[in-house]
Amino acid sequence: MTDRYWDVIVVGGGPAGATTALLLARAGAAVVLLDRARFPRDKACSEYLSPATTPVLERLGGGVLAAIEGAAHAKLYGMKVVASSGVAMCGRFASDHGHVPPRPYSFALSRAIFDTILLRAAVREGAAVHEGTTVEDLVWDGRAVAGVAARSGNGKRKTWNARVVIGADGLRSVVARRLGLIRTSPPRRIAFTTHVANVAGVDGVGELHVGERGYVGLGPIGGGVTTVALVVPRAAVRRRRQDFRAGFFAELERYPGLAGRFERRCLVRDVLATGPFGQWARRPAVDGALLVGDAADFFDPFTGQGIYAALRGAELAADCLIPGLTPGARAPMSATMLEPYVRARRRHFAGKWALERLIGLGVGWPALAERVVGRLARRPDLADLLVGATGNFVPARRVLAPSVLARLLW
Ligand SMILES: Cc1cc2nc3c(=O)[nH]c(=O)nc-3n(C[C@H](O)[C@H](O)[C@H](O)COP(=O)(O)OP(=O)(O)OC[C@H]3O[C@@H](n4cnc5c(N)ncnc54)[C@H](O)[C@@H]3O)c2cc1C
Repeated sequence: MTDRYWDVIVVGGGPAGATTALLLARAGAAVVLLDRARFPRDKACSEYLSPATTPVLERLGGGVLAAIEGAAHAKLYGMKVVASSGVAMCGRFASDHGHVPPRPYSFALSRAIFDTILLRAAVREGAAVHEGTTVEDLVWDGRAVAGVAARSGNGKRKTWNARVVIGADGLRSVVARRLGLIRTSPPRRIAFTTHVANVAGVDGVGELHVGERGYVGLGPIGGGVTTVALVVPRAAVRRRRQDFRAGFFAELERYPGLAGRFERRCLVRDVLATGPFGQWARRPAVDGALLVGDAADFFDPFTGQGIYAALRGAELAADCLIPGLTPGARAPMSATMLEPYVRARRRHFAGKWALERLIGLGVGWPALAERVVGRLARRPDLADLLVGATGNFVPARRVLAPSVLARLLW
């Protein structure tokens, strides 16, 4: 069965897909978004929106930021990192490094709420959304992507055609896989995330605890609930007979800054597992298709930049697509037409990619993490600078400068 002809098919209704659909539908394009889940749905995430996300949400309009402010949420004023010896550094967003954050705090809220706010905003702008619809394959017109084949909840398979297919289907993107674009790199880690009520000692900063065989991120998300993410090397998961989900709290107790802070009875959501990370697409655009969000690249969650990258990537995709979506045109958009998106991503994200990969590798070396955290504990100005760069409002090149990198180590 084939449907009408669309300008754009968006696969995935997470932050990347919903934002792309919203912007394109607002510009007058005929957009259909397909997601295998039904919203609200949970997502394995630490659920912190880095400070630079706020202006993107403001630009989106459509009542999105007001809806976030009106929902249960927490405000985070910085990030604390605790090394395995217990030594800790804390960086604040508001500082005197010469880069003013959009607000002195960032938002943190459940992804079930956040993603639903974005998706409903896309619907209000005119995007057609089909939940419970799993994309299984791509449809080709010669060498160009011309649509998708998807299965809905009742088991029916249907073909959808469009000028451009946007793969916004996250880490395990079926679009990127069918295009043969996936590349992987170490460190390959797996995450286990959950929600816990009444965690002791949680205040207005996010926390990252680095241990001998992984790390834990936690932070409040409003309503007395804390989101907790345990991230471990894939090899450790394969070696161990016991399921990490069952041993979740026991594993947390191994971290000096976490011992005694959790009450098992206060688990308010099942433990979700996701990974492995360290995956990116060789090219984010080909004839008839482009990739946004985690489908395009996701290296490691330590720096908490994924949602910002998803939203900003959606803006870059919309900027490139809108001029080419002329009414009545039906030919797949060529890779040449999508090239400005490829260049804009490189320009915008190159520093972020380098920083995310450097930090992701660094936390895999406990002795190195110990040294850097120790240095930053004595240099709060550098801690603020680093937290500003991972918060995406301080240019990454300021931290990647050899003089700053040297000060982090010696
Ligand atoms: C442990 C962990 C902690 C993190 N913490 C943070 C953090 O604190 N802050 C931050 O900014 N980022 C964080 N991230 C990263 C962040 O979660 C992602 O970068 C973000 O979700 C990317 O959004 P997306 O829209 O690209 O993908 P997703 O949010 O994964 O959305 C993809 C959507 O596609 C749908 N889908 C998948 N396959 C199909 C298919 N075949 N057909 C139809 N639909 C499909 C899914 O149902 C889903 O709704 C974390 C990630 C992890 C793993």
